[in-house]
Amino acid sequence: MPLLINLRHLEREPLELEGDLSAEELDLLDLDELIKLAGPVSYELQAEQLDDAILVQGRVAVVFQCECARCLKSFKLRPDLENWVCHLPLSGEDAVNISNDSVDLTPALREDILLELPQRPLCKPDCAGLPKTGGGKAKKVAPKDGLAATGSDPWAELNKLKL
Ligand SMILES: [Zn+2]
Repeated sequence: MPLLINLRHLEREPLELEGDLSAEELDLLDLDELIKLAGPVSYELQAEQLDDAILVQGRVAVVFQCECARCLKSFKLRPDLENWVCHLPLSGEDAVNISNDSVDLTPALREDILLELPQRPLCKPDCAGLPKTGGGKAKKVAPKDGLAATGSDPWAELNKLKL
């Protein structure tokens, strides 16, 4: 069921909205090669009518099932949508579509879930990737010459500067 707000009801009093949306209902089935929704997205929201807009706020629980882009390990990611706020203008250029006195909140929610998608999912920020296997012939980078001697990780250097 789409996440609908009935404007007639909303005129009278703020509305509580609670339920689940499947990946299919959110049109989030084909997110990314490495990222899928781990299950339905559940929401507990309150909608209220402002002068010329609807304000929706509340909790949205999303879990992504990811595969690490470096080591292929699968892991779960929970984007922070604990305080989701959505402002839907009822007139003007950005006005929401109203059909049968109702506004569908699903597209707005979908968009904000998409914004939480990591560009490149990593099981941990410094994931080293797959262990190199096979014969040990791979050249190891010797931290002997020049710049490499000060540490091959440019981020480590940056961190030192910040301190
Ligand atoms: Zn990894």
